[in-house]
Amino acid sequence: MSTISELYGSLVFDDTVMQERLPRATYKVLSKTIKEGQPLDLEVANVVAHAMKEWAMELGATHYTHWFQPLTGITSEKHDSFLNPTANGGALMSFSGKELIQGEPDASSFPSGGIRATFEARGYTAWDPTSYAFIKDGVLCVPTAFVSYTGEALDKKTPLLRSMDAIGREAKRVLALFGKNPTQVATTVGPEQEYFLIKESDYENRLDLIMTGRTLFGADPTKGQELEEHYFGAVRPTVKAFMNELNTELWKLGVPAKTEHNEVAPAQHELAPVFLTTNRAIDANLLTMELMRKIASHYGLVCLQHEKPFAGINGNGKHNNWSISADGENLLEPGSTPSENLQFLVFLTAVIKAVDEYQGLLRMSVASAGNDHRLGANEAPPAIISIFLGDELGSIVEDIINKKAPKSSGKIKMDLGVPTLPTFIKDNTDRNRTSPFAFTGNKFEFRMPGGEVNLSDANMILNTIVAEALTDFADSLKKSKSFEKDAMVWVQQTLSQHQHVIFNGDNYSSDWPIEAEKRGLLNLKSTPDAVRTFIEPKSVQLFKKHKVLSKVEVESRYEVKLEHYSKKINIEGLVTARMARARFLPAIIEYSTAVATAIDAKLEVLENIKGIKLDTSAEQSLLEKLTAGINAISAGVEVLEKEISSAQSIKDSYKNALAYEQNVIPAMDAVRKAVDEMEVIVGHDYWPVPTYNHMLFYT
Ligand code: ADP
Ligand code: MG
Repeated sequence: MSTISELYGSLVFDDTVMQERLPRATYKVLSKTIKEGQPLDLEVANVVAHAMKEWAMELGATHYTHWFQPLTGITSEKHDSFLNPTANGGALMSFSGKELIQGEPDASSFPSGGIRATFEARGYTAWDPTSYAFIKDGVLCVPTAFVSYTGEALDKKTPLLRSMDAIGREAKRVLALFGKNPTQVATTVGPEQEYFLIKESDYENRLDLIMTGRTLFGADPTKGQELEEHYFGAVRPTVKAFMNELNTELWKLGVPAKTEHNEVAPAQHELAPVFLTTNRAIDANLLTMELMRKIASHYGLVCLQHEKPFAGINGNGKHNNWSISADGENLLEPGSTPSENLQFLVFLTAVIKAVDEYQGLLRMSVASAGNDHRLGANEAPPAIISIFLGDELGSIVEDIINKKAPKSSGKIKMDLGVPTLPTFIKDNTDRNRTSPFAFTGNKFEFRMPGGEVNLSDANMILNTIVAEALTDFADSLKKSKSFEKDAMVWVQQTLSQHQHVIFNGDNYSSDWPIEAEKRGLLNLKSTPDAVRTFIEPKSVQLFKKHKVLSKVEVESRYEVKLEHYSKKINIEGLVTARMARARFLPAIIEYSTAVATAIDAKLEVLENIKGIKLDTSAEQSLLEKLTAGINAISAGVEVLEKEISSAQSIKDSYKNALAYEQNVIPAMDAVRKAVDEMEVIVGHDYWPVPTYNHMLFYT
């Protein structure tokens, strides 16, 4: 294959392939399922499965898998071959409709937060026909949802799909009031993925990176990102080769990789695709992450997607650009005519109301041990949710709240005496990069998600909370006799109520948390506290109302999140102790012995034998520092080990997570501090692991 357009989607069973390969009637039924969520019967599935298998085998596939996203957030797959032995000793290659629509992985090894204990031991996977099947490494991958036999979701995709239904339904009710009846309303997402590439040979020498994805030790490099030379800088040739191969492979899989550039931190890069419907965008992001890791190895590199691989250096974020689309019309596009502007204003207001009312849930959706290092550090938005609207839209909103005519020229007054929006010009003058939730012209950019996260949770929350705000509008307006006037009243009142969540200033400034507290905004700094909001009655009620998660599902997810957090910190604690004892202490002891030997030799040879008086105070003071360091590290490790075992003994998942957060992490930090202080005084050749200087500034 030569051209990109031939390459693009060549490994995807997409609409074009379906049209080519399926009988017309089957194609029609399947398209209806995809577009309108109609259920699919087994007969149709049989025809689709057969065509899919023929297509996949022509492209070299021998196996198929149900590709799904258990609660760990990463993707899972178990391969089955198409092979079926026949009675006469031969073999047939087959793939039935049943095999396509339903699978039965061994569910017991996936986290369920206690759901399976309460219900059924088994779980099954079910085909998500709205996300196309594709071929990866000779395996036909069928995107699926993963649920228990009693129907509880055991994965990330199911509630996301339910939330897309919810927002689609409510947005349609709102649009009906505007006299529109679109067939499909869906949210769209464009996730920007940040990552680091470091040398495999360095990675292999760091147990912390191998086990936890981040460095648990490492003094600041002598040069950081202060020269701002890396951002958009020339890409290293090896990295460029990596990016080219990555793009090619992604394009084959129908992932519209679009933009690539260096990021702010040394050795950091970003990839942004063109946006897709949310569930497809998330599948595509998970594939992107997987391919990045795989392809890096072709170049002797390792791809780090952790939220904070290097302390003191920017971490990896994953900006979630989000909007709502009705038959292709972007509902967050301000537009140019007053009536369209009123519709835009309603959707904008709904998002503002939703984000303010459910700040905690939004924060919860991106909470993880890794992201705790990022949020609130100086390259990422703080843990406080606020909305940036920009100068122009901000002042329009303010005018509406104050019932004033907008200042901008060319304003139009509706006959109701309500000032409406002037033609809105895309605001690219003041793009505030510090806001966690920013309006960027025709979409919102949620900047809190971390590099490693599966974006399903964040979008499941966004969709559900906005669905709820749209319900409020639709319910309030359904009996209205003068729709435009009443809609404007709803907009005005709702904006007034939620104005405090709008902040166009610098979110990184130290004044902001103080100001935010005065405004009554939440500041949930750590994962355990953020996760608590999940099980609040208000949240449970919301998920139940929109049929996104049942109470049992919420509680199970709460458990899994806390458990995952505790397990992560537990591993980090153990690795910290192991590296300190088995890597750093021996090296520091060896170096200090060399220093002591040198002092001794000098004194022995020169003073005693040759009678020359020497000043060895510098070496002695170094030796004292090294000895003090050895003692501090040893003592620190002992404290750490005690904290880990006392945390391990706590049964209650919340208290357990708190113990890791409040006791284990500080103990780890103390060990790290003592080791990092040694790194800068121990001879380079003695240091047992690659340093930040070495890992970040390679050629
Ligand atoms: P930035 O300036 O923040 O680096 P870009 O302008 O490069 O961002 O694009 C950010 C992302 O937003 C891209 O993935 C793009 O496809 C996505 N995007 C654009 N429009 C929409 C939309 N209507 N819905 C969702 N995502 C969108
Ligand atoms: Mg961005």
